[in-house]
Amino acid sequence: MRKAKRAAAMAWTLAVRAGDMSVKGMNNMWTALVRPHLEYGAEVLSMRVWEDAEKLMRKMGRRVLKCGNRLPNDAIVGELGWMSMRGRRMLLRLSYWGKVLAMDGQRWVKRVYEHGRARLEGNANANTWCKLTREWLLELGLDAEWNAQAVGPEWQEKVRGAIVERETRLWRMRAVKNAKLEEYVLWKHKPGTEEYLKHPMVQQRRVWTKMRGGCLELRIETGRWERLTVSGVQVLVPRRLRRCKLCFGGVEDARHVLFCCPAYRQTREVWASTVCQTAPPAVARAAKDLQGKGNEDVVMKWMMQEGGERAGMQMLADVWRERRELLGERAWGIDQSQ
Ligand SMILES: [Zn+2]
Repeated sequence: MRKAKRAAAMAWTLAVRAGDMSVKGMNNMWTALVRPHLEYGAEVLSMRVWEDAEKLMRKMGRRVLKCGNRLPNDAIVGELGWMSMRGRRMLLRLSYWGKVLAMDGQRWVKRVYEHGRARLEGNANANTWCKLTREWLLELGLDAEWNAQAVGPEWQEKVRGAIVERETRLWRMRAVKNAKLEEYVLWKHKPGTEEYLKHPMVQQRRVWTKMRGGCLELRIETGRWERLTVSGVQVLVPRRLRRCKLCFGGVEDARHVLFCCPAYRQTREVWASTVCQTAPPAVARAAKDLQGKGNEDVVMKWMMQEGGERAGMQMLADVWRERRELLGERAWGIDQSQ
């Protein structure tokens, strides 16, 4: 762990020296320089949960995305499509298991394995390498392979597929329960690297990631830290009262600033006329009449998952700049360093 932390720090310094390293570059750094330290001996060590490694992974993910601690864990995984460290250990162990099975019966590794397996059959709690291996195989629904003690061709891909499927299912279950990710889960159905992360304008991309992850400093989010006094008692501000300070017309969330708030009407009109030149016809029509029924969704969907990310980032950056000027607030999310 110490080694991994040191590698993480080193990788970070490198990235800072290189200026604004791309997401791809940082991604490679994670897989090539840091992760291997966390996976040393993973095939043979029996470790079910290793929370420190997961934490370090998320920390690196936050750095890659240039977002702070308030970005939900499931948004990090969602945007980058990284497998959990537990999933990686499963993959390494079970791939290795496939190799052991293919070994000649004379090899000592195979002999030790068979001995362990016999012990496990005699005693379900036997302390052997086979125990966790079997547990994980069953968890992934790969009982048939365990029972047959044989794997088919492309075993590694099969294991990977099973792990990804399982992690996607669990990810989705957690994400839909997270209030911050209410909008996100409408457009993001499974973790996977987002194309918009290649965008060269780092600040725009960063504000976009925060918006998607529900941690952009709009009142829906900052309202968590405010308190109301009701009959002399301090209470939290409920979500429905976290109204926009410019128009008081509604809860200030991403949709409010992008589509509704009258304070940004002009910016929005300019933006819509630009969008009309490049967007697909249906989106262009919807962008001209955002108040029309269902039109918000058409535009939002386009910006979130159908190639309109660049236009979305531009719009959000413009609104964000304007908002700061109007409210005279500090440039949350834009100038504030990580
Ligand atoms: Zn407003």
